Amino acid sequence: MFEKVLIANRGEIAVRIIRACKELGIKTVAVYSEADRDSLHVKLADESVCIGPPSAAQSYLNIQNIIAAAKTKKADAIHPGYGFLAENAYFAEMCSTCGITFIGPSSHSVQIMGDKASAKAEMEKAGIPVVPGSGGVIEDEDHALSVASKIGYPVIIKATAGGGGRGMRLAQNPEELRKSVALARQEAEAAFGNPQIYLEKYIEEPRHVEIQILGDVHGNVIHLYERDCSIQRRHQKILEEAPSPAISPELRERMGSDAVKAARQVGYYSAGTVEFLLDRNGNYYFIEMNTRIQVEHGVTEMVTGIDLIKQQILIAAGEKLKFKQEDIKLCGHAIECRINAEDPLRNFVPTPGKVEFYHAPGGFGIRVDSAIYTGCEVSPYYDSMIAKVIAWAPTRQEAISRMKRALMEMQVDGIPTNIPFHLKIMDNAFFQRGEIYTNFIQRRLLG
Ligand code: ADP
Repeated sequence: MFEKVLIANRGEIAVRIIRACKELGIKTVAVYSEADRDSLHVKLADESVCIGPPSAAQSYLNIQNIIAAAKTKKADAIHPGYGFLAENAYFAEMCSTCGITFIGPSSHSVQIMGDKASAKAEMEKAGIPVVPGSGGVIEDEDHALSVASKIGYPVIIKATAGGGGRGMRLAQNPEELRKSVALARQEAEAAFGNPQIYLEKYIEEPRHVEIQILGDVHGNVIHLYERDCSIQRRHQKILEEAPSPAISPELRERMGSDAVKAARQVGYYSAGTVEFLLDRNGNYYFIEMNTRIQVEHGVTEMVTGIDLIKQQILIAAGEKLKFKQEDIKLCGHAIECRINAEDPLRNFVPTPGKVEFYHAPGGFGIRVDSAIYTGCEVSPYYDSMIAKVIAWAPTRQEAISRMKRALMEMQVDGIPTNIPFHLKIMDNAFFQRGEIYTNFIQRRLLG
């Protein structure tokens, strides 16, 4: 087992990883930017190293400084968390070149799945249903128009290197498509440094249902059922739950075994997520695989009792999975609300600043993963998520009541947050009935 792990991240996920390491008896090294000197992850780790100025490009994305920090502190492994370098194949490669274990999948898996067009092609080979589309990158306008006329409108243009809900454009007809191709390429180049785009049929009012995977380096792969992440704003998740209120045990089995097949296709190990869109007719389509731990992993932990971060660490250390598929049981229901420092009354603008007072909710069935404390500064440099509140209960209905109670208990003074917005979701009749599609927020709350 590793003696020391460096955590190449910040915020709640760095804290989450430090907690797992502590429970496994592993020493921890935190890295931080100059803006994060007083951050909780720095206080909780055994050791810490400053890796650069506030901007992420110069600190949390600075591969050289992070590897140098790991070498100086004699860490034998690096956990990348999510975001930043978590899905950077070059970083994974550099770790192994420098004799440091990357706590994640092979750089090969990261690379294949990181390019959304090649990931889809790979999945088709494995016989996994994918959203009908261009089956590769779009060369030009004419190519786009001919693909779209085959699959039918509306279509969505996506950047092969896209992520975080960005790099997507909807086209309802040939005119819109013609206008969008060049624009989408420019946007992709600007946002991801890669102009490649591809085309997909736009699925109307789908649900986003994703399957959690765990694989070891010995070729064992299992799934830990699904999460429903249909509650999104601008294609970004803000609330997730497990299990999905929408799928039958039979569909759950089929999606689970397809996700395992997907992982096997690329020789996947570590934790990963296979994302699907589910249409109104119960057809599901692969959209992408995330080769990292996800923000919403906690809801799966609550309903399966399995600590996914510890599993990632054990797998990276070469251990065999301790459970077989039939050992994974679903128990109860869990809902996660992403608490963001943003103002729902002002079009969700980020609201960084000082937290004058913080009181975390608690009690039976409530879990809070956060890195804020009274007096801390929420930095304008990074993601606006400040906490994840997870409610577990035997049934979905009880989990909703419990979440509502927790959100009302939670106090974050000094900066506006989206807590009132989450309370609106809890009170919404469509949400309560599980009638949730990816346009829920636009249609039922903002529309
Ligand atoms: P990202 O990597 O940016 O998160 P994804 O491919 O995972 O992008 O898609 C994010 C969200 O965008 C999905 O959950 C869904 O709401 C929407 N989306 C993506 N592809 C389609 C599609 N073909 N049809 C309809 N909605 C889509």
